[in-house]
Amino acid sequence: MHIEEVSFIGSFKKESQCPKEKRPEFAFIGRSNVGKSSLINMLCARKGIAKVSNTPGKTQSINYFDIDEKWYLVDLPGYGYARTSKKDRSGWEKMIERFLVIRENLQVAFVLIDIRHDLQDIDREFINWMGENSIPFNIVFTKKDKLKKAQVKRNVDKIHNELLKYWNSLPQHFITSSEKHEGREEILDFIEELANKF
Ligand code: GDP
Repeated sequence: MHIEEVSFIGSFKKESQCPKEKRPEFAFIGRSNVGKSSLINMLCARKGIAKVSNTPGKTQSINYFDIDEKWYLVDLPGYGYARTSKKDRSGWEKMIERFLVIRENLQVAFVLIDIRHDLQDIDREFINWMGENSIPFNIVFTKKDKLKKAQVKRNVDKIHNELLKYWNSLPQHFITSSEKHEGREEILDFIEELANKF
């Protein structure tokens, strides 16, 4: 898919404030520092559309971008700080969960995982929560350039096997490097296919 125009629509604190248009939406979420802003910038081929920030937890709102007046790219706040138990959830974490559950036009949430690390508890909990709530998701591995090819495969397999303890099968995944511009076409083609079906 070729992207002509990207415009920032706004930052919203809750689902009810988000755009009302009937447009297909694609959300991006992951732990802070996973490379979400870099991935969004790469997909949009714009530097600085999503702020690449080294301050974890800085953005706690839902950011909407209009892509060619065809679909919305939704930048969700990073998760995974100061959470000690399932009960101890911060307000915005509940806000994200609510968004994901009730947002009718949401086609898919892309869950970003740093390819260098083992699956963290918070990632596993979040992915399992998505599955239990029938929210369509795809895993996007980030920072592929940081590992050698064999290690990339080993880590992807390891994370898959970990998740397959809970699930019979897993949706398609993507392996990306924003640094080296890899994985862009695959994700955009996938989005295009779903957006055309909308
Ligand atoms: P966010 O907090 O999830 O939005 O993550 P950022 O996009 O701000 O990235 C966090 C850090 O990881 C920054 O220092 C980025 O330069 C770095 N980073 C992000 N993507 C990549 C990548 O594909 N390769 C490499 N080598 N570094 C990356």
